[in-house]
Amino acid sequence: MSPRERVFAILNRQETDLAAVINPTSILTMDSMKALGLSCPGVHLDAHKMAAVAAAGHELCGFDSVMPKFSIVHSAAALGADVDWRSGDEMPVVRGHPISDPGQFKMPAGFLDHPAVKVVLDAIRLLKKRYSNNIAIIGKVFGPWTTAYNMCGTQEFLIETVLDPEKTARYLEVFTPPGIMFAQAQFEAGADIILWCDHVSGDLCSPMAYRDFLLPIHQKINGKDSKSPALLNKKGPVILHACGRTVDRIQYFAESGFEVFHFDSLNNTKELLEKSNGKILLTGGITNNGVLLGGSTEQVRAQVFQLLDDGIKLISPECAIPLRTPNENLKMIRIAVDEYYEKR
Ligand SMILES: [Zn+2]
Repeated sequence: MSPRERVFAILNRQETDLAAVINPTSILTMDSMKALGLSCPGVHLDAHKMAAVAAAGHELCGFDSVMPKFSIVHSAAALGADVDWRSGDEMPVVRGHPISDPGQFKMPAGFLDHPAVKVVLDAIRLLKKRYSNNIAIIGKVFGPWTTAYNMCGTQEFLIETVLDPEKTARYLEVFTPPGIMFAQAQFEAGADIILWCDHVSGDLCSPMAYRDFLLPIHQKINGKDSKSPALLNKKGPVILHACGRTVDRIQYFAESGFEVFHFDSLNNTKELLEKSNGKILLTGGITNNGVLLGGSTEQVRAQVFQLLDDGIKLISPECAIPLRTPNENLKMIRIAVDEYYEKR
């Protein structure tokens, strides 16, 4: 099986030769940049550099997928947020949040042509040209919840969810189109799969906030709302991402219409599998801080074996990995999967 066939067989719930190793979020590392003679912020701003270092995920680390959008700021920059692209081992950040009322937001006419957005689309096109249908290409967008963090400030937005539900609903309404447009454009550029990030994480909001505010929007995006056609014309599966403990809301994610949920190692995998009840597939589970960064290859192997024992078939780091993560530990994910299957 080719890596892409393997990933899609698992997504289609078919038997495979091996489990797949994917990177729904960033596996950009200093090691990969050094190997290619590249650096930050060039890898975020130049499509050729971005595609080259994304390809390292497969070429140097053995992943079955490549994913070129490493940072959280691209769409925010195109929507008018003040972005610091930074350098060295620091990822870009949003430093100014321009919106304090949903009425202030207007979708920019040239959103898809903004350099910060176009660079991602161009990098996906380059990766598609390079890998055709051999490696799974994963794109990434932010949904309205995370876009609100970027555009309004995380605390400011979360306070509104408690004090002013009506305003929250309007925020989510105006911030949904950018994610839809960007996802559509990434599919058209050649992405096989999209990661949809909405950080309704355990430490930031309650399961009820997800159920009441965001679940209906996710269902509309995915065509699970019988009253309206799907907002997103899906050309492939879409993976939902939220960090932290989410086991108390996985039953709602399972109703969202997303095909896969990308989970954090703070969750008990067996509990997640039980509560999702087969309605949504799971990927993730490798701990970033303490295992991939700061841990030994032996720890990585042990965690991969545990995830495979638990029944996870799409193995991936839990979230965007720290830039200082050694490639040795990333490579071990693939090696451990292969060893596990050899032993059976
Ligand atoms: Zn995350």
